[in-house]
Amino acid sequence: MAVVELHHVFKRYPQGHEALRDINLTLEAGEMAFLTGHSGAGKSTLLKLIALMERPSQGQMFVAGRNVTKIRRRQIPFLRRRVGVIFQDHRLLFDRDVYTNVALPLIIAGFRHQEVGRRVRAALDMVGLLDKERRYPITLSGGEAQRVGIARAVVNKPDLLLADEPTGNLDPALSREIMGLFEQFNQVGVATLIASHDLDLIGQLGRRTLSLREGRLLGERAEVPA
Ligand code: ADP
Ligand code: ADP
Repeated sequence: MAVVELHHVFKRYPQGHEALRDINLTLEAGEMAFLTGHSGAGKSTLLKLIALMERPSQGQMFVAGRNVTKIRRRQIPFLRRRVGVIFQDHRLLFDRDVYTNVALPLIIAGFRHQEVGRRVRAALDMVGLLDKERRYPITLSGGEAQRVGIARAVVNKPDLLLADEPTGNLDPALSREIMGLFEQFNQVGVATLIASHDLDLIGQLGRRTLSLREGRLLGERAEVPA
């Protein structure tokens, strides 16, 4: 079963810039893949479409088994729980401690207090931060803050994890560690799509790699010279 399916998807921003052109893509349940390409190629836009943070201008999209091409605005929050998103700058709330940052998606989803605690601790345990739950983000290292972002993204047990340059601010050793975490979640069945321009790191991991150039997917075959 596919967790993401895009058929002839285009994205044109209001000012007229065509960020994605004729994208066809399938990500199978439990698959792990990388998305690469130069700055401005459309990586963030593609992730935002799949995360339902932006809407396609044209084409058909299926996410977590649902046709989301024309999904209604009020149905989006429910479907978003199936998708965990990780940003380069982790976007933690700086006036909330680690526990609360990770708990927020569950509190918003209406889970009971005890279930929130159980799931938050399980997620923090998986990223190795159980002992830091009362810390504030400002006191964490870059790698730790990113791990909190990952815990927050997995706490709802999503079918799909999307990460936009998750190692962009980290040194190579920490980047390897973060990728190791993604592999660990992937091993338990979470499909994972990671945008990165760190080709060395991607090469080491030996996974399917999709390339974008000027809004087009180059595919996985050898590129036809222009
Ligand atoms: P990448 O993540 O590969 O750097 P982006 O998806 O951020 O690429 O951007 C693709 C293109 O779309 C770029 O030319 C960018 O300037 C443009 N773009 C991205 N977001 C917007 C937006 N909200 N409004 C208009 N243009 C945008
Ligand atoms: P990231 O790739 O980390 O999302 P960007 O710098 O590409 O960061 O984009 C930051 C924000 O600005 C995003 O919300 C994006 O949609 C928006 N953006 C990017 N390029 C443009 C653009 N050319 N015009 C308007 N908004 C843009």
